[in-house]
Amino acid sequence: MILEQLTVGPFQCNCSIIACEKTKEAIVLDPGEEAHRIEKILKDKDLKLKYLVHTHAHLDHVGATCDLQEHFKTARPQSCLHEEDQFLWDNVAMQAALFNLPPPKSGKVDLYIHEGDQLKFGELSLKVLHTPGHTPGSLCFILEEANQTHLFAGDTLFAGSIGRTDLWGGDYGTIIHSIKDKLLLLDDNTQVHAGHGPSTTIGIEKQHNPFL
Ligand SMILES: [Zn+2]
Ligand SMILES: [Zn+2]
Repeated sequence: MILEQLTVGPFQCNCSIIACEKTKEAIVLDPGEEAHRIEKILKDKDLKLKYLVHTHAHLDHVGATCDLQEHFKTARPQSCLHEEDQFLWDNVAMQAALFNLPPPKSGKVDLYIHEGDQLKFGELSLKVLHTPGHTPGSLCFILEEANQTHLFAGDTLFAGSIGRTDLWGGDYGTIIHSIKDKLLLLDDNTQVHAGHGPSTTIGIEKQHNPFL
């Protein structure tokens, strides 16, 4: 597996580029901003971009989607989102205005993804978990590779914290349920890649996260 992670934009969103080493098929998870940096990695590593995957439709996770779709026009990657976040996607300009930022170009959602779906790229597969609470359509993704489980947690679970629930459609009780019923069931050694800040593991969060 190829895994490249970069922190993008004013909100410092963690964007992941994940690819199959054998076939070079790749996905970009949370292309929040700075499309040029993401494109450069894809190009340097000679990767074929198949999916643009979004944990949710907050501005800081979707800002580079349109630029990437335009750049890879000839082999256009499919943009994936849970449909319950479509209202946020449609209102990305309003989200930007709230933070006094210029509106990003809005991309298009090609594929709604749901709990239990598997997104396949090369020999890798990303399993979809629906974990509402931070937003109604928040998703986490599980990737198993070489005896290691990776969880891409978006803004649902952070090292020592959880996602805020005071924005559009957020709900505190719901995010706690999502984390306890779906994420904490994973193996303690699961590597957690959060949407912001450092990585952690399920075991560490079970023991030390004050919200859980
Ligand atoms: Zn968010
Ligand atoms: Zn975020």
